[in-house]
Amino acid sequence: MDEIRARIRDVPDFPKKGIVFKDITPVLADAVLFRRVIDAFAARWKGERITKVVGIEARGFLFAAPVAYALGAGLCVVRKPGKLPWRTLREVYQLEYGEDALEMHVDSVSAGDRALVVDDVLATGGTAAAVGSLVTRQGAHLAGYAFLLELGFLNGTRKLGAQSVQSLLHY
Ligand code: AMP
Repeated sequence: MDEIRARIRDVPDFPKKGIVFKDITPVLADAVLFRRVIDAFAARWKGERITKVVGIEARGFLFAAPVAYALGAGLCVVRKPGKLPWRTLREVYQLEYGEDALEMHVDSVSAGDRALVVDDVLATGGTAAAVGSLVTRQGAHLAGYAFLLELGFLNGTRKLGAQSVQSLLHY
């Protein structure tokens, strides 16, 4: 994991002043480290009978797809409003200033599914909690969350309640 940490690049003041952006693209570009990340996710969840892996736009897709493949599960996508072509369920959530929304196709998960939500970064947890809500509102079981890294000082896990959370790296 130290090698993965060493390849995550801090980009100050991106996308706006005061934010230190965790750039995970060097990890994706490294064949050995990318495989290690996917293997670590798959090892944690392989006994949990996951039927759907839910990726969060946009960087979550990069991890959710290979994890779904590795677990033998289906892949579902959660996107910003207006991007999905079919009927959607929408969840509105609070940001520091204002609000945002995410959407999921109404027929992507259903009762009987065991869903794992995947994203690159857990920050305040608002995004992940909204996705968890989209899953449970459709009657599926939310098995847990997996992140490449967690910004612990923002206490994002608090918003995720009692759910199981896997973060490969903690900052
Ligand atoms: P939050 O809802 O605050 O947990 O924010 C999570 C979402 O914002 C994730 O989809 C992340 O990709 C992105 N994000 C938040 N903070 C950062 C950061 N410092 N570096 C990279 N991505 C971030």
